[in-house]
This record gives sequence, C-alpha cells and structure tokens, in this order.
Amino acid sequence: MKWLKSELERIKEQNLYRRLFHFESPPGKVLELEGRKFINFASNDYLGLASAASLECLRRWGAGSGASRLVSGSFTVHRELEKELARLKKTEDALLFSTGYMANVGVISALAGKGDLILSDSLNHASIIDGCRLSRADILVYNHCDLEHLESLLKENRGRYRRCFLVTDSVFSMDGDLAPLDGLFRLKRLYGAVLIIDDAHATGVVGWSSLELFGLTPDDTTVLVGTLGKALGTFGAFVAGSSLLREYLINRCRSFIYTTALPPFVACQTLENLKLVPERMALLRRRLSFFRNLTGINSPSAVFPYLCSSPERALALSEFLRERGFWVPAIRPPTVKQSRLRISVTAEHTEEELRLLWSSIREFELTL
Ligand SMILES: *Cc1c(COP(=O)(O)O)cnc(C)c1O
Repeated sequence: MKWLKSELERIKEQNLYRRLFHFESPPGKVLELEGRKFINFASNDYLGLASAASLECLRRWGAGSGASRLVSGSFTVHRELEKELARLKKTEDALLFSTGYMANVGVISALAGKGDLILSDSLNHASIIDGCRLSRADILVYNHCDLEHLESLLKENRGRYRRCFLVTDSVFSMDGDLAPLDGLFRLKRLYGAVLIIDDAHATGVVGWSSLELFGLTPDDTTVLVGTLGKALGTFGAFVAGSSLLREYLINRCRSFIYTTALPPFVACQTLENLKLVPERMALLRRRLSFFRNLTGINSPSAVFPYLCSSPERALALSEFLRERGFWVPAIRPPTVKQSRLRISVTAEHTEEELRLLWSSIREFELTL
C-alpha cells in the first residue's frame, strides 16, 4: 500500500497535513499539553458543561448500554430525555441517536429515496452531504443561503419529482452565520417540501431552537436535528419532529436500528445539564456581544471565523497564538474553501481572556 505514503506526501506539500494532539487535562477551558497550559478557543462546549459528571447518574445506570435501542438497550431515561427535548424544541416528539453524524445520515437516507429531490446548501455539514448521497435521491446544491437560487432550482425541477426535501445547517459550523429560515419555511410551503434543519451549533446557543429567532414553530413538515455533544455538554444527538416521524424512523432508519444505544448514563447526565442551560446561555450571550464589539466580526453565533489569505498564513497565526498560550487551530481546505482560524467563544471565557486573544491576533497582523 505504498500509495498511502505518496498520498500523504502530497497532502504535506499542500500544507494540508493533519495530526492529533492528546491533552492531559479533561475537556474544558484550559487544556494541558506536555505540561503547558492553553486557553481553549476551539471547543464546541459553548456552555462549559462537558466536564460535568453526576455520580448519581453513573451509579444508577453504569457507563454502557448493552444493546441497540430495539433489542434491549432502551431505558426509561432515554424516553424521559426525548420528551424533554421535544418540549424544548416545541415538537410532538423526539428520537435519540448515538451521534449527530448518524442522525443526519440516518434521517435523510430514511426519508428521501430514488425519484426524490434534495436541495442542499453548499456549506452544509459533511454528515448532511453523506446522508444525501446515501439516500440515492437526486441532489441539487444551492449557493450558500441564496434563496433566489434555491427558488429558481425549485421552479425548474420540483415538478419532475415525487417528494422534495430542503436541507440546511441553521448555524453553519465553519462560518457561524445563520440560514434564512423564514425564507426556507416559505419555500417549503410553496413547493410542498420537507425542511430538515441541523441545529448542532444553535441548540443552547441562540436559544433552544434556531426557529425561535424567526418566531417560527415547527409543523409536520419540519425536521429538527440537534446534538448533545456541543452546547449541551454530553454526547449523542436527536431528531425532533412529529410522532409519526419518530415512529417511522424507529422502523426504517438504519443508523438508529443497527447501532448500540446511547448509554442511559449519557441521557441521565444530559437531563442534569439541561437544568443549567438557561443561566449559562444568558452568560454566553453577554460574552458573545462583548467579543462582537471587540472584534467587529459580526457573528450571530458562538463561532467567529477569522479569515486568512492562505493555509500557510492560517497555520502561522495559529502557531503564533499557541506560543502565547491560546489554542486556536487553523481550519483549511478541504474542510473549508478559504483558510481561517475558527474562534469558538464559550460562557467560560472571561472578558480579559477575550481581550488578550484579540490583541495577540492584532500583534501578528501588525508585525508579521
Ligand atoms: C458536529 C456536527 C454534526 C455531528 O454531530 P456529532 O454528534 O459530533 O456527530 C452534525 N452537524 C453539524 C452542523 C455539526 O456541526
């Protein structure tokens, strides 16, 4: 398999090589690596809940789950969490998944099939793209957040298909911007489509649900995907929607059926974390508005992209910040088209830390 080596050399030449770092500290605002401490600006733990662990949950449920949900791995605490998530998302019901990747791949491929049309935003998460491919439906990619482009594709193509699906991130994971959900809602109704919204970076950040920002409530052709591994601080994911949708997914969704259930301990811990969300979310909002004012980066979420002219420059800035004790990795192609630092602000960052990070970035720009 010598081609693996030559392929890796090609990746290195393009400055796109990736490697893993193994931290000695648990997940949190401060990371320790080889005895050095770094302030973490690269976490999706927006509310600082990832390090929470309830001994009561662990003692009651243990760490594993024993089987898939349909076999013997479904417990009362799963159902309790599903009901609570549905209440918060204002949907009839919800279904837990083991990861967000599996929720997207599973729900899209279970709902769409041959003879259907999926319209997908050009900056959607990889798990949405993979779900679309796996479904074997025809896929049209519309320009990022471009409702005019989307509508022209709908006008031209909708008539030839049985079912139609619009799929989008609500908060985009690398740009932190917001999909035009009001316009998407209008087009979904006008063209008889189902709207699938991935709230991975919205849940617990912009509110319980991205739809709140637009004064919209989910109806029976809205499917909301949410994750537990980001602001909610644990692991796993869920699909929120109608009871009919839940029943269908239990029977037809392969990434729900053929995998080990989310450990009941994780569901129990998530219920604990949910109690802390409102207060932490209010604190996060204050930090976000502080950082927006400081930097002029106008992000509606906790993700602040700082664009760089090349992968080399993004790497150099990331390295410069690391020497000053900040962990802010460079994000490069193929993950994004334009290289950047992706700065995640969390409820745990102090104003002083945010100020220090920004002055270090200014220093790099002025001196190098
Ligand atoms: C993180 C993320 C996912 C995947 O969720 P996991 O639980 O990490 O697998 C899906 N969609 C978006 C937009 C994400 O950012």
